[in-house]
Amino acid sequence: MTADRVLDFAGHEAVVRPLLRAVRDGRGAHAYLITGPPQTGKSTLARLLAAAHLCPAAEPPCRACPTCRRIAVGTHPDVEVLPPGGLCDESGHDHSRDHSRDIRICQVRRAERLLNLTPFEARARVVIIDPADALNAQSADAFLKTLEEPPGQAVIVLTAVEVSALPETIRSRCRPVTLGLLSPGTIERYLVQARAVPPDEAALLARLSGGRIGWAIAALERPEARAHRTELLDECAALAAGDRVQRLSVAERLAGAFAHNRDEVYAALAHWASWWRDLLLITAGRDNQIINIDRREELTAVAARFDPASVVRALRVLREARRDLESNVNPRLALDAFMLRLPVAAKGGGARRA
Ligand SMILES: [Zn+2]
Ligand SMILES: [Zn+2]
Repeated sequence: MTADRVLDFAGHEAVVRPLLRAVRDGRGAHAYLITGPPQTGKSTLARLLAAAHLCPAAEPPCRACPTCRRIAVGTHPDVEVLPPGGLCDESGHDHSRDHSRDIRICQVRRAERLLNLTPFEARARVVIIDPADALNAQSADAFLKTLEEPPGQAVIVLTAVEVSALPETIRSRCRPVTLGLLSPGTIERYLVQARAVPPDEAALLARLSGGRIGWAIAALERPEARAHRTELLDECAALAAGDRVQRLSVAERLAGAFAHNRDEVYAALAHWASWWRDLLLITAGRDNQIINIDRREELTAVAARFDPASVVRALRVLREARRDLESNVNPRLALDAFMLRLPVAAKGGGARRA
């Protein structure tokens, strides 16, 4: 991370400005729940909120002081991030190696212990649970006690793709922060102004991001993010053609990935949904609104092989797959069911009703 990119968070002003103002005015919360689609900035905002609470500047977060900088790179001693596979206090545990896909109760116990300690150097201690939908039932239950009576100097930030993935008992104790998709124009402006991206490239990236600024930034910083998108969309097109063996092998791969990186799987589903939404737009004659403009020819050809009802069904089974994964249905079962219910393209064209 370069010096001028500390806790860089673009867009969402209507949400973020009042949130930070409240912290500055002493009206911050003890617990926040940040929700939003994959790659919309939830993790960055969680760190920005931590900085707002801890940064000693007159207008926190200043994004320049040692406190802000260390929070940004994950080395501040008063900020603990709890991911699946993270640290706990048990001497015999190594969750980074045991393919843990949940946030375990032993990790929650560690977070509770840290929150009860006097801050090391800042005015509060912050625990970020990212993503909170990785808490299993037992750890969510254990964590509830801390949420009900947080220690005086504790700030807790949870992130989740969907609010419904968390028990009401947890949700009701957090200040809700909802991030949506950004307009392509907002992302394009950010890329040109803050990242000095040439206007043509910025416009394309903004469009392809589908409103997920995190994807646009990743595509900029890591060329493999764009290559990965291409692979996922190629795969989506192949799956739509209907090969059952391939469908089940992709389900198996994703279920394996879900064990250690559920965001990667949610992001794959989001890319696939963008492809199917584009098909729907094309069948509706709204080609100018599609996201994946670089694949217009392929999409137009495929759209001719689906009737609109099948495309709507594909979008529905995608949504249901995501919901099943979020509610901790066995990932392999959820993904197999998704693959078997995904509509199949008509052979050679002509399925589309006149
Ligand atoms: Zn600062
Ligand atoms: Zn443990």
